Amino acid sequence: LLYCLLFSLWVSSISYSQKSDLNIEKKIDKVIKNMTLEQKIGQLCLKGTSSRSKGLSEELKNEVRLGLVGAILNLTEPNLVLEIQKIAVEESPTHIPLLFGRDVIHGYKTIFPIPLGLAASWDMELVEKTSKIAANESYSRCINWTYAPMVDIARDTRWGRIAESPGEDPLLASRLGVAYIKGFQGNNPSVPGQILACAKHFAAYGAAEGGRDYNTVSISESLLRNVYLKPFEAAAKSGAATFMSSFNDLNGIPASGNRFLLQKILREEWKYDGFVVSDWNSVTEMIPHGYAADEKEAALKSASAGLDMEMTSLSYAHHLKNLISEKKISEKQLDEMVRNILRIKLRAGVFENPYFKDREKFSLLNAEALQTARTAASKSCVLLKNENEILPLKSNQKVAVIGPLADAPREQLGTWTFDGNKENSQTPLKALQNSFGQNNVFYASGLSHSRSLSEEGFASAIAEAKKSDAILFFAGEEAILSGEAHSRANINLPGLQEKLIAELHKTGKPIILILMAGRPITLGAVLPKVNAVIMAWHPGTMAGPAISDLLQGLTNPSGKLPVTWPKEVGQIPIYYNHPNTGRPADPKTFVAIQDIPVEAWQSSLGNNSHYLDAGYEPQFPFGFGLSYTNFSYTNLKIEKSNLKNNDRLTVSADITNIGNKTGTETVQLYVRDITGSIVRPVRELKDFLQIELKPKESRTIQFSIPVSDLAFYNDKMEFKTESGDFKFWIASNAENGLEGDFKVE
Ligand code: BGC
Repeated sequence: LLYCLLFSLWVSSISYSQKSDLNIEKKIDKVIKNMTLEQKIGQLCLKGTSSRSKGLSEELKNEVRLGLVGAILNLTEPNLVLEIQKIAVEESPTHIPLLFGRDVIHGYKTIFPIPLGLAASWDMELVEKTSKIAANESYSRCINWTYAPMVDIARDTRWGRIAESPGEDPLLASRLGVAYIKGFQGNNPSVPGQILACAKHFAAYGAAEGGRDYNTVSISESLLRNVYLKPFEAAAKSGAATFMSSFNDLNGIPASGNRFLLQKILREEWKYDGFVVSDWNSVTEMIPHGYAADEKEAALKSASAGLDMEMTSLSYAHHLKNLISEKKISEKQLDEMVRNILRIKLRAGVFENPYFKDREKFSLLNAEALQTARTAASKSCVLLKNENEILPLKSNQKVAVIGPLADAPREQLGTWTFDGNKENSQTPLKALQNSFGQNNVFYASGLSHSRSLSEEGFASAIAEAKKSDAILFFAGEEAILSGEAHSRANINLPGLQEKLIAELHKTGKPIILILMAGRPITLGAVLPKVNAVIMAWHPGTMAGPAISDLLQGLTNPSGKLPVTWPKEVGQIPIYYNHPNTGRPADPKTFVAIQDIPVEAWQSSLGNNSHYLDAGYEPQFPFGFGLSYTNFSYTNLKIEKSNLKNNDRLTVSADITNIGNKTGTETVQLYVRDITGSIVRPVRELKDFLQIELKPKESRTIQFSIPVSDLAFYNDKMEFKTESGDFKFWIASNAENGLEGDFKVE
């Protein structure tokens, strides 16, 4: 009892602040001193529960009572959380509270667009707001740790998890990751309503060969550091409380047993002091990987590499004690792992606040959350085509609403929405009926779902289309066609959607294609048949009102692609920041290769690199997105074009809204390092900003970045800015822009 009293006395004096870190370390010393080996190992165990289970198993309660559990995954019933937390705090010998983890990826009850969609908003304040709402909602349901953000760069649109990714660019991904972390954790994760974040999957999970989930990753160290690690470094520096190791092997070593990643880079270079959790069973998956012979060796390899907490598998629980008595792992090392976990528990304030105080102050699906979801869905939409300004729709039009995703409340939520309910979804059909009036909307899905191979619904879809002035076709992928273990070898419109569009095209009515999908979709023959295309990703709870607002011009599209959009699946991997080759291909040269006479091709093009049948040009470049207005870029200026190492590159341009609608433009700064000690990318995004301009309004925008932002890891793995010639562009996407030059001395 005395122990209990003293313990709660000192923990009540703890509050989060970097300055109090010394205090925290001292407190950890005291706690660790009184822990048995079993209890220490217990802190390293993240136990899974089935989200469907009604109660707590006696086994779990007993383990918690003995101090053998550090955290619990997927326990979503608040009463059960509070019940087991009470056992941990009051009955276990250590009195250390548990963490309760859950995949709150793009919203808890209020579902925001999938992360790839949110990335298309390029709006960091908005992203931060969505994750703050997600934190508040999940805290209200007794969750204090989310497995987000995923900051895996993805260059392969076949990979199902591209839907959860921030896209292909290291800078955009870094800023997104930091915004999510700020939203989840706030400035202080111990404030009620904030939760702990987890940067995942460390590392290079998105580079899985062939876009096949969990697959091997074979990349050079400079590619790893210059691209894939960038957002993780930003996440570590911005205070992400936890990191998750990935399933893949990196150049032969599984990430969950990878010393180079977990020790050298994370701890030694980045000085990270949070804790590392494995992915689901990823420690024992090193056995089928062929990297550990058995559970014991898996535990040894992960613990030695620096993996602190094991998710769901039990190799630590089963073997660490023996490994310590065999002196294969030292108790000092075990103490370090426990220390990392306790440090985060202390920073999270779970000792003072184990029972989620004030949680009733945070409501689910409140007006602000729904409004933010509506704004986020609308800002995530990317207008890809708008022939003859067919959009926004003129008033008094009669519209035919067709397609498998027009009224699919579950599908519009997308992947990783354990806690979102389709009952809360507002679908495009309902929203359009509300705003256009029932009598002006003719609806037939045409296809019961996106993969359907039945033409049964075609006739009624065509009949409804004929009554309308314009067809709104809601096409794409159902939620299960992206996400974990849901890669696709073809990324076209599944099922008979293309065929139905071709049939509708014959009616002569204009077609507006609204895509909902977890990835870019190759459009092939569809594109010329439709007059406008809006990429809406999986927009979440408020898909309907957001899309209806855009179609009517109540909001103006401002999203820009966070990934390069391929024409053909065979072009993948395709991404804008690829290294130069010795024979630079003018992508446009090869687009019409089929039409070039054989002789001309042989004489002038034969030695160039190209796909004979598809060319190199993507369908839409990274950073691309149209608006209902147009912006002109003029008057490029550079403050100083001979720069020293501690100077800044300061450049400006005038952006003018030359259309007649207010609109928001994302202005992008790209740089190319002409010659380097290793081959450099053709362009790299270095900064971006958003401006809203009224019709005819013009503004001078300025970018100013330190020359050190041009640094990269060279072949000796030194991070340096190299002297020489550079080009820069102030651009509206990765393929255009006003171009200038500068030198670094
Ligand atoms: C995924 C992680 C996720 C974990 C827990 C794994 O399969 O790769 O991203 O956080 O499951 O649900």
